[in-house]
Amino acid sequence: MANLNNKNLKLAIQKQGRLTDETIEFLRKSGLEFESYKQRLFSLCRNFPLEILYVRDDDIPDYVEAGTVDLGILGLNKLNEEKPKVKKLLNLRYGFCSLIIAVPKESEIKDIWGLRNKTIATSYPESSKKFFKKNNIPVEVVRIRGSVEITPALGVAQAIIDLTSTGSTLALNDLRVLSKIYDSESVLIANKEAFINGKKNLLKKLITRFQGVLSAKNYKYVMMNAPEEMLPKIKGIIPYLKSPTITRLSTKGWISIQTVIKEDLFWETIEKLKKIGATGIIVLPIEKMII
Ligand code: ATP
Ligand code: ZN
Repeated sequence: MANLNNKNLKLAIQKQGRLTDETIEFLRKSGLEFESYKQRLFSLCRNFPLEILYVRDDDIPDYVEAGTVDLGILGLNKLNEEKPKVKKLLNLRYGFCSLIIAVPKESEIKDIWGLRNKTIATSYPESSKKFFKKNNIPVEVVRIRGSVEITPALGVAQAIIDLTSTGSTLALNDLRVLSKIYDSESVLIANKEAFINGKKNLLKKLITRFQGVLSAKNYKYVMMNAPEEMLPKIKGIIPYLKSPTITRLSTKGWISIQTVIKEDLFWETIEKLKKIGATGIIVLPIEKMII
C-alpha cells in the first residue's frame, strides 16, 4: 500500500453500498483516473493529487469534521441526522431518496396526528424527533439499526421512519406511506478549514471539475430549424439564450439554431418550439460544460 501524502487532497466515499457505484462514476466523469478494487482501502488518482478513501458512510461525517479527510461524499440524510460541523459544497444529483413515515397497510392510522403516543422505529431518531416536535405530536421514538421495515410485523412499533427511493421495500413489507419528512440526495462536504489551508487551490480546481459535470447533466444541446421570422419568439421561449449560433439554410427564410436547454424545462420548451414551427429538432447530451 502506498503512503498517504499530506499534500494530496483526501476524499472519503462509501466503500460498499448504494452510493458507491454512482460516486465512482461521477468521479470518473470528472476526469479523475483511478483504479478501484473490491477490497480497496484507498486509491490514488493518476492525473490529480487526490486520494480516495473507501469507508462506511457512517464514518464520513466524523472524518470530514476532524480533518482526517478534506472532503466526503454521502447522503444529505446523514447531514440532516447528525449535524456534523462541516461545509456542504455541492448537491450531486444522484442517490435520490426520501425519509418517510409509514404504517402497516391495514393500520387504522390515517395521518400523522394518528401517531399520537405511538411507538415509531427508525435509524433516524434525530430527524424523527425534530419532525414530531415541530408538529407538536408526542410519540415514542425507538432507535433501530437494522431492518426497520420489519418492526411493525414484530410488534415492536406501530409505525416506521425510513429512507425509500422507489417504495418497493415498503410494498414488500405491506407498508403504506403517511408522510414525507425530507428529500435527500448525494452531496459533497468539506472540512471547515479546507478553504484556508494550503490545499485551497487544488480544492477549487476539483470543484470546478465537479461543477462542469453537474452543469452538463442539467443541460441538453439542441439543434433545430425554424423560419427566420420566429427568432425573437424562440429567444423568448429560451430566455437564457442570449446569442444562439445561427446558420442560414438553403431554403429561403429558414435558419438553423444551436443552443442549450435546461433539463428540467426540457419537454415544456420543446413543445413550445414545435408549436411555433421549429422542425428537425435534434437533442444531444453534453459531456462537460464549463460556465
Ligand atoms: P454502510 O455499510 O456504508 O454503513 P449503509 O447500509 O448504512 O452502508 P446504504 O443502504 O448503502 O447505507 O445507503 C447509503 C445512502 O444511500 C443512504 O444514506 C442514502 O443517502 C442513499 N439512498 C438512496 N436510496 C436509498 C434507499 N432506497 N434506501 C436507503 N438509502 C438510500
Ligand atoms: Zn451506514
